[in-house]
Amino acid sequence: MARLPAFGLVPLLIGLSAGCGLAQESLATAKLASASVSLAAPAARTEPAPSRVAPSRPAPAPVLWAVTSLRGTAYVSLREVAQRFSLKAAWAKPEGAMTLSDARGVRLAFEGNEHDFYFDNLRIFLGAPVLNYKDGLWISLLDAIKIVAPLFRPADHFAFLPQQAPKIIMLDPGHGGIDPGTESKRLGLNEKTLTLEVALRLKPLLEARGWRVLLTRTEDRELSKDKKTDLLMRNEFANRGKADVFLSIHFNSAPDNITGIETYAMAPRSMRSTGDEFGDEMTKVAYPSNRFDYANLLLGAEMHRALRATLKTPDRGYKRGRLAVLRMLDCPGVLVECGYLSNEAEARRLATPAFRQQIAEALAAGLDNYASALTALRTQANSPRS
Ligand SMILES: [Zn+2]
Repeated sequence: MARLPAFGLVPLLIGLSAGCGLAQESLATAKLASASVSLAAPAARTEPAPSRVAPSRPAPAPVLWAVTSLRGTAYVSLREVAQRFSLKAAWAKPEGAMTLSDARGVRLAFEGNEHDFYFDNLRIFLGAPVLNYKDGLWISLLDAIKIVAPLFRPADHFAFLPQQAPKIIMLDPGHGGIDPGTESKRLGLNEKTLTLEVALRLKPLLEARGWRVLLTRTEDRELSKDKKTDLLMRNEFANRGKADVFLSIHFNSAPDNITGIETYAMAPRSMRSTGDEFGDEMTKVAYPSNRFDYANLLLGAEMHRALRATLKTPDRGYKRGRLAVLRMLDCPGVLVECGYLSNEAEARRLATPAFRQQIAEALAAGLDNYASALTALRTQANSPRS
């Protein structure tokens, strides 16, 4: 059960047009001072915005989110989210977990006080915890408009996604040279070697699919003796190479027997990074890569889904991070943690070329799926509406 402090509740009606990314950005930083906020339609293009509907249809009414302040943060009810997506909301266990499902089955599963939810069984972390209030569970407005809605309805956010098919990719084998990354001393394995090995396996797989592949390094070397500069240079290489996608490859460590995969995408402005309970000044900053929040989200979801499907290792979650290796990118980018060197059994698996090839194939499949998803959305957006 969610434990809620007794706050004065501030019900607000926030007007949002569907897929209104710019409005969402404004909202994320707004103080919500006004009792009724009407937000303008997206202005992604400089020319006059084309009509979103055929002339024969009436103009859609502004979509309203009923927002309540919980723990000082704007929250929306999952029942409302369900209504918006034409899903059925139901308690999965009495007042503890809710599922939002359609005729095909459960699509979204939430649990009170948890930071994550499941979307088609994919574990995805939110910026704020799910809260139990009144007759249901609630999620933060920022999570609704920056994670849940664009994942469930990417077509509504098409104007904020890349309009061209991605062709150039910058692969970033994590660490290198003086920085070995994490290590398995028992097996004599280190992260910097594995990341490069996987990147070099991935390169031909992508080239065979028509990608132009660039790498931040092709040998065992650091990009700079200074770690911060090293990470920034990886951003800079992608930007100078005019990459359409950036993929940073890593392996993980944990103090116990944890195994599995994690994927990180840049945290949208005002959203806390996963595991960051207190927030910091950085949450207030819009970094260059925040221009690609929706594409980052989609890319990360496809990479995480492909890793999970291929490797069949535990799903440690698709997370948010304001990572130095992602912050300054001029293109969508994600970081993947493909397994734990700190776990003996997983490290032994990572030591085998066959498993590393599986990782490379999973990453290639994820990138393919991202490109295909963009193509499908572009086709959908360009097709005449009835
Ligand atoms: Zn690493």
